[in-house]
Amino acid sequence: MAESMVGLKRTHRCTEVSLLDEGKSVTVMGWVQTRRNFGALIFVDLRDRSGILQIIFDENIIGKEGFDKAYTLRNEFVIAVSGKIQKRSGAINKNLQTGDIEVIATDLRILSESETPPFPIDKDSNTKEDLRLKYRFLDLRRPDIQSNIIMRSKVATLTRAFLTKEGFLEIETPMLTKSTPEGARDYLVPSRIHPGKFYALPQSPQLFKQLLMCSGYDRYVQIVRCFRDEDLRADRQPEFTQIDMELSFVDVDDVIDVNERLLAYLFKEVLDVDIELPIQRMTWQEAMDRFGSDKPDLRFSMELKNVSELVRDCGFSVFANAISNGGSVRGINAKGQGGMPRKKIDALVDFAKGYGASGIAYIAIQQDGTVKSSFAKFMTDDEMAALIAALDGENGDLLLFAADKNKVVWNVLGALRVELAGQMGLLDKSDYKFLWVTEFPQFEWSDEEERFVAMHHPFTMPMDEDIDKLESDPGSVRAKAYDIVLNGTEIGGGSVRIHQADIQARMFKALGLTQEVANEKFGFLLEAFKYGVPPHAGLAYGFDRLVMLMAKRDNIRDVIAFPKIKDASCLLTNAPDVVDDKQLGELSIKINI
Ligand code: ASP
Repeated sequence: MAESMVGLKRTHRCTEVSLLDEGKSVTVMGWVQTRRNFGALIFVDLRDRSGILQIIFDENIIGKEGFDKAYTLRNEFVIAVSGKIQKRSGAINKNLQTGDIEVIATDLRILSESETPPFPIDKDSNTKEDLRLKYRFLDLRRPDIQSNIIMRSKVATLTRAFLTKEGFLEIETPMLTKSTPEGARDYLVPSRIHPGKFYALPQSPQLFKQLLMCSGYDRYVQIVRCFRDEDLRADRQPEFTQIDMELSFVDVDDVIDVNERLLAYLFKEVLDVDIELPIQRMTWQEAMDRFGSDKPDLRFSMELKNVSELVRDCGFSVFANAISNGGSVRGINAKGQGGMPRKKIDALVDFAKGYGASGIAYIAIQQDGTVKSSFAKFMTDDEMAALIAALDGENGDLLLFAADKNKVVWNVLGALRVELAGQMGLLDKSDYKFLWVTEFPQFEWSDEEERFVAMHHPFTMPMDEDIDKLESDPGSVRAKAYDIVLNGTEIGGGSVRIHQADIQARMFKALGLTQEVANEKFGFLLEAFKYGVPPHAGLAYGFDRLVMLMAKRDNIRDVIAFPKIKDASCLLTNAPDVVDDKQLGELSIKINI
């Protein structure tokens, strides 16, 4: 039977008391984690969001009625207990913050009962994620998820505090809006009042934050939900949160400066980790050449080596052809992995194929110096020796080579490098390695659209020294764009924006956008630019990813209260779902499936 809490007031959370409060009367409220009976004593572990506190029901103290009531308690009942704090009578529990105290109960109220939950509310639940997400309200009670959600709140609060001090204003931008230029598919919302017309949910506040700069707000920040209807991927959420910012009268260094101080502040306050400033910077080109990735994980080296010159004329046609077709041959050295069983090497080859490789060539140097290789028979001894030397191969090393177009080679070796590091135990989650990747290419070629598309977005400023190449050699133009990378994950990115109409017009042209199309899409921004626009730049963090890494999790769902699964559905609410015909009628919508 559920009792009311009339006349009761919670005095403390479970872990807000300590031995210093010995003898004090308290009232605590929460959920029953466990109940154990020992004859005349009943022990209950009471749980709230702060942690666990042991309660003792002693018939001699609480009386028969109270004791009988305590006897009916089961897991997840919500109770209020009044009593006195005392030193633990039994053994001290070193694993609990309150392990040296207990409350000896004088009063118990059962505020509500609970059915048996479908899985235990424990720290290390092995429960399948689908079941956890269906009962997310229970899953969210688990201490490890709770600590993530609490950390998330803390990171948001600290971000606001820091940026407010730095002169940022928090300004909201619309959720019902027009398409934004981040290049993904939009989520559309039909308009009832304007039949046949749609709003788009924002992929980011990009255009609005640039407008705010035009309006003189100078420094803007928003912790904001964004929506992208992208293809399914395990680590993507259709709605996700950004820490989005924009600054006026700044260049690349100014954005980097305030952001690295923000990161250092967050990591110190939340994790007590010192980040050395300035954070290392690397150009996009260097990142690709050395790590095969625009978000290199710097916790380990295993750098790529370009061996194209060594194998240009070798007898192995896979190598020679890759180079004559304008590609390259590059390798990595997995130190100490030369004894890897053939089966495992084959699995690596399959893994590489998933990243576009047609194959992987390897040299496994045994401890005794003999060599097992998939392609030695096509090479001279000297050529083999030169390859091994180029990768600093020593006895016991495994050398892996990819030969293809540069883009494929980078992609494959970049992924293999991280995969191997994982297998070799080199990815320590408490080792935080930050990196700024700068000077991204302005454009990337889209085979699908047969034109250059913006690598970041169409408002990104080219590097001053490359502006002249916008027409003559767009593929070589570098942008004033930067990403902040942590342990191989891009946690944020941004750019300096174009604020000059003539450069913007040239940019649209390079992107194959006519002035009419540009006007239709972003006319309001171009119009605003006619009335005095400050030079401006900005950046947005993937807030979920940042918190995921800070919480040392592998999965962003673990840091989002109510996440969706890979197919963008919500197991808790069953969204998306059908709606009734009346609703559709009001929206002038007919379903066509
Ligand atoms: N709007 C960009 C994004 O969502 C970030 C930026 O350029 O500020 O990636």
